[in-house]
Amino acid sequence: MGNLWQASDSERKWVLALAAGVLLLGVRKLDLVVATHADTDHIEGISGVLRGFPVGELWVGHLKTDDPVLTAVLLTARERRVPLREVRRGDQLKVPGLTLNVLWPPGNVWSTEDNDNSVSMTLEVPTAGGKLWRTAILGDLADPAEALIGLGKLDLLKAAHHGSRFSSGEAVLTQTRPKDVLISVGRNTYGHPHPTVLARIEAVGAKVWRTNQAGTVRWPLP
Ligand SMILES: [Zn+2]
Repeated sequence: MGNLWQASDSERKWVLALAAGVLLLGVRKLDLVVATHADTDHIEGISGVLRGFPVGELWVGHLKTDDPVLTAVLLTARERRVPLREVRRGDQLKVPGLTLNVLWPPGNVWSTEDNDNSVSMTLEVPTAGGKLWRTAILGDLADPAEALIGLGKLDLLKAAHHGSRFSSGEAVLTQTRPKDVLISVGRNTYGHPHPTVLARIEAVGAKVWRTNQAGTVRWPLP
């Protein structure tokens, strides 16, 4: 937390909130931080995190040049000498017991909708039974893109876009057939999670975990 004094009020607020959660989980450093896309609710806290924790690498998808919040994040990364990597579909991170596959963005075409440029990934962990335990982290990717990037069968789906009705469509739910769906959502005026999304998830028999009800959700890897 040595550089917290340099942080702005808003960064300080974020890092203190994140620190409380992350430190309680026993995490003292972060090997990887992903700035999924240039939406404040996904990246505003990152400058504070970069100041508050040792971070190994920062990943971005769309390196948008006219977004002040993303620009602040990139400046902080440079100042803290955190390597920046622009990731694309096909990029992969493999460490013992864990593989992270980047499925989106492809990088050749950018949408004017930041959500559609979200870095979306699957995370795979081999289980004792010789199978893969699989989850997907989708940022705010919308339907139908979420169903077209090749997620395959999942054990856990982290619902895109906080349970927005424009994501977690029937196509992605029937493709991934998750046992559990995690919705990261706080108090909001957008109506997240939307009742139709909850109904679609219920229709495929998955259990819903909502951070606005359960708080921080810690998911043990097999
Ligand atoms: Zn969002």
